[in-house]
Amino acid sequence: MKSLSEDEEFDVIVVGGGLAGLNTAIMCATRHLKVALFERNKMGGFLATLYPSKIIPNYPGFPEGIVAIELVRNWLRHLRFSGVKVKNETVLDVAKGLTVTTDKKKYKSKVVVIATGTKPRRLGIPNESKFSKEGRGVYYFPSHPEDFLGKKVLVIGGGDTAIDAALELLNLADEITLVHRRESFRAFDENVEKVRKSGLVDLILNGEVVAIKGRNRVEKLVMKQEGKKLEKRVDAIMIAVGLVPNNEAFKHLGLRTDERGFIMTDRAQRTNIEGIFAVGDITYVGLRLITVAAAHGAIASHHIYSYVKKPYWARET
Ligand code: NAP
Repeated sequence: MKSLSEDEEFDVIVVGGGLAGLNTAIMCATRHLKVALFERNKMGGFLATLYPSKIIPNYPGFPEGIVAIELVRNWLRHLRFSGVKVKNETVLDVAKGLTVTTDKKKYKSKVVVIATGTKPRRLGIPNESKFSKEGRGVYYFPSHPEDFLGKKVLVIGGGDTAIDAALELLNLADEITLVHRRESFRAFDENVEKVRKSGLVDLILNGEVVAIKGRNRVEKLVMKQEGKKLEKRVDAIMIAVGLVPNNEAFKHLGLRTDERGFIMTDRAQRTNIEGIFAVGDITYVGLRLITVAAAHGAIASHHIYSYVKKPYWARET
């Protein structure tokens, strides 16, 4: 059998280039582990792909907030000087052992870290997927808020993504409606208050959107509120009804997850499979924040170092 070249064997393979993956990779490399980081899309996770222009209000050290893509650029500068091998490849499979198969090659590693995050949940209503194609009116966040200037936009959901989307659109959209299926919200109270106080968002509570209508793009929405059916003309709809884990490449491994597929870990970020760790939004955490993702990276790297190098103090951690 052909043996793998040095470039194909690592101490640590991190799958996913959001903050949890980046920080795990950087901190492992700082401890002189040989690390590869695989990302099939853009580095920086949701901050780069979903909301590059959003001002992140709660990252320590930036009291006025910082634009998401600026934060990502800083992380990437850090990554560049860390010694981590970055590979723009799609991980197709991870086998116990640990072999990682991508769309280009096979690799071996002592540790695999799953940091593939989440994607927006689909609502599953008629016309949603047809109109979610470029510019047809279904979005999962206003990634380029300026595109909504003068538009009639309807946001669905009662979590932080929905409330943040409504706040992003204030002073841009002509009309903002937010539909939530309950009376109260699960988003941060402070931001819900900002939405309420703005006087610019029409709140439809105990309501539900059941269909999207239009010929080539979104034109109208059909809603139900307390048994009544309503129709509303809109230019765009923002669906923010939660997140689902990106776990396709790992499903067969027998990882312990919750009922929604989020990976269970112990306090060292270890999964139930030997050598496999998980960090960030794909794990079962009550709080999905970038500061939590960064902390997962620090915790995981510490325990990965112990696992790979087996220093004398390892059993204390
Ligand atoms: P989320 O917290 O799971 O909220 C999803 C919302 O969608 C809930 O209000 C839920 O209603 C509603 N929903 C779910 N299924 C629905 C359906 N079929 N029809 C209508 N409504 C439905 O998701 P998220 O807002 O995307 O946030 C995900 C995580 O990221 C959270 O931990 C959040 O705190 C975090 N996050 C933080 C920030 C920030 O720090 N600023 C920003 C974005 C996200 P119910 O309330 O009735 O369940």
